[in-house]
Amino acid sequence: MDDAEIERFRQQLSQMLKALSIGEDLGRDATRTVTLDQQAVGRLSRMDALQQQAMAKAQSARRAQSLTRIQAALARIDNGEFGYCLDCGDAISAKRLGLDPAVPKCISCARG
Ligand SMILES: [Zn+2]
Repeated sequence: MDDAEIERFRQQLSQMLKALSIGEDLGRDATRTVTLDQQAVGRLSRMDALQQQAMAKAQSARRAQSLTRIQAALARIDNGEFGYCLDCGDAISAKRLGLDPAVPKCISCARG
């Protein structure tokens, strides 16, 4: 992989980071709106509220996980390990990285 390619991936990863933090803000807003509606209208059952809360939590956990993956990928770029499988050290295919530049493993290791 040449420097220009790595630079493209770095930019892609930074954009993914940015999109995630925007999502986090939107998520917080959505949660707040739901809470207010519930108090004002009292239409949502406790069950619904709990379910929504659980979904918001799961989403937030997924975001945190993606954040970690992306930050780890950016760190790998910095120390020259980007594009190599964390498990076996083989090069990860460009096609695979193109789909998800934060992917940490080659296809055979990811499959187990
Ligand atoms: Zn591997």
